[in-house]
Amino acid sequence: MTQSARLGLYLHIPFCSAICNYCNFNRGLFDADLKARYVDALVREIARAGEGRPAADTIYFGGGTPSLLDPPDVARIVAACGEAFDVAADREVTLEANPETVTVERLAGFRDAGVNRLSFGVQSFRDEELRRLSRLHSADRARSAVREARAAGFDNVSLDLMMWLPEQGVDAWLESVDAAIGLGPEHLSLYLLEIYPNAPLKEDMARSRWSQAPDEDAAAMYLTAMERLERAGYEQYEISNVARPGRRSRHNLKYWIDGEWLGFGCGAHSTRGGVRWKNVASTEDYVARVSRGEGVAIEARRLTLDERLGDALFTGLRLAEGVDLDAVRTRYGVDVWARYGTELQRFLEAGWLHHEGPRLWLDRQGMLLAHEVMTVFV
Ligand code: SF4
Repeated sequence: MTQSARLGLYLHIPFCSAICNYCNFNRGLFDADLKARYVDALVREIARAGEGRPAADTIYFGGGTPSLLDPPDVARIVAACGEAFDVAADREVTLEANPETVTVERLAGFRDAGVNRLSFGVQSFRDEELRRLSRLHSADRARSAVREARAAGFDNVSLDLMMWLPEQGVDAWLESVDAAIGLGPEHLSLYLLEIYPNAPLKEDMARSRWSQAPDEDAAAMYLTAMERLERAGYEQYEISNVARPGRRSRHNLKYWIDGEWLGFGCGAHSTRGGVRWKNVASTEDYVARVSRGEGVAIEARRLTLDERLGDALFTGLRLAEGVDLDAVRTRYGVDVWARYGTELQRFLEAGWLHHEGPRLWLDRQGMLLAHEVMTVFV
């Protein structure tokens, strides 16, 4: 069985120690009692989803702040996945972690629980930037967390960084990139800060007169960081992600290579067999429904062929290697070039989009403008 034919299992952990001023995820403040009931509910939801014990090869704890779980919670959830699914021996088990929540002992506990990949939400290696984002950790804590991960035996560590932060210029951003490279993670994700309309950060910025650098600086941040990372031995394999050879995120690749995944927990999304569904968003509601033996999925619907095709192209173009149009034709019976070629021509002429043999891909400059190209498909 190919890796993409195996399921990815996503576990949503909606608890945080404090709510960051820019956050738009499904999360709430940590509460020990609710956490205990939530873990029970997760284990039950997983147990009843594994009919036929389908094959899976990745488990991903996302949040929220999954590292607020205790190692025995993680061990129980991983074991529940192993009972309900035929989880490959070479599974990738990722835990998202915030630097302030870990110690070498807790990390060793997560490792014993079956976690073999850590993804740290670092965001910046400059304390003033972290304060502006209301993050709880310092740059030093982030450095220590990575060292503690190594001491606990992790050989697969990813760091998240955010660019285009309030008051951040290109040089300040590159300081964080260099600091990250200096720690030698196997993988890095670089995101552009998006400030949603009701974010408290928006008010903080107005009150403190903080601003974001001009658009052309944001582009320079992205391009220069990617060049530096490449020089340091990382391969850019997706718009926002780079990895050392062999260290791409196998779980996240399922979202981009038209794979299938099941999401467990409040607000989690799933896509399987051409059907997409979403779980109820409220943590309390989720726990109550599971304990009453009720379903938690809402908004389930079968995707049309055009939607599936659009998604496959939209997400595939996020990858540096792009989309294999022959594979798309085999899967969906559509000649992409015949259908979209005329509209795509202007992007080819602009030099952002490339079409060679069966492959269609964006170069790095094109990735900056990916949204424009992708609107052709949706
Ligand atoms: S730690 Fe992450 S999920 Fe939690 S509030 Fe901050 S940004 Fe949101």
